[in-house]
Amino acid sequence: MTTDKLYMDSIKSCYLKEFNAEIINIEENQIELNQTLFYPMGGGQDWDTGTIISNGREINVLEVRGRDKISHLTEPNHNLEIGQRIQASIDWDRRYRHMKMHTAQHLVSAVAYDLFDGVRTVGNQLRYDKSRIDFNPINFDDEMLSNLVNETNKLIKNGAELNIRMMTREEINEIMPPERTNMNLIPPNVEELRVVTIGDNLDLCPCAGTHVQNISEIGGIEFLNKKSKGKGTQRFSYTLK
Ligand SMILES: [Zn+2]
Repeated sequence: MTTDKLYMDSIKSCYLKEFNAEIINIEENQIELNQTLFYPMGGGQDWDTGTIISNGREINVLEVRGRDKISHLTEPNHNLEIGQRIQASIDWDRRYRHMKMHTAQHLVSAVAYDLFDGVRTVGNQLRYDKSRIDFNPINFDDEMLSNLVNETNKLIKNGAELNIRMMTREEINEIMPPERTNMNLIPPNVEELRVVTIGDNLDLCPCAGTHVQNISEIGGIEFLNKKSKGKGTQRFSYTLK
C-alpha cells in the first residue's frame, strides 16, 4: 500500500501543518500512515519532523523516509496500533526553512545556467541551516560568486509566483533544454511529470519537493563557501539571510 502524499497536491498544500490519518502498518518504531504531510528525505531535501497525537499524548516523529511507502520513525514505547486514527502535525519552522532553501536552489541553479554558459546542477543538499549545490563545469571566482548571489537576490526581491502542473516530456523539452532540467535523470518510462515553474519564464523543473508560493518569501540568500569536488565540479554553499 502506498502513502498518499498530501504535500504534493498543490503549492498551497505545502502550507498545511496538521492532518488526520490512519495507521496502516507498524514495525517497531516505524509507523506507516494511509496519508501524510511529512516530507520524507529525498531529492536532496531533509525530512520533516513533528508529532503524532494519540489519546492526548504527543509522540515525536524523528525521521521520515521512503518513496511510495513512507515510514515515520517515532520515539520508542509509542503504544500506537494498526487501524488507529491519529492526528499529526509537522514542525513548521523546520519545514518552512526547507521550502525556502529548496526554492532558492531552483533559482540559483537557473541564474547560474544563464550567467555561466549553461552550467549544470549535478547535485544538491537542502537543509535547515545551510544548503549546497554542485555545479559542473565551473571554476568560480569572487566576481562570479557575487554576480550569482546578487542576481538571485534581485529576483527574490522582485518576487514571482510558483505553479505546479503536469507536463509530458515533449512539452518540457520544447520549453527548456533537457540538460537544464536534468531530464536524463528521470526514468524513461515516466511519461507525465510534475513540473514546478517560477514566474513566466524564470525556471521550469520537474520536482517532487516542497516550495514556497512566491520567491519573495525566501527573503534572500547569503554565500557561505565554495569547495572543489574534482573533475570541474564545484560546490556552492549558501544560507538564508
Ligand atoms: Zn523543487
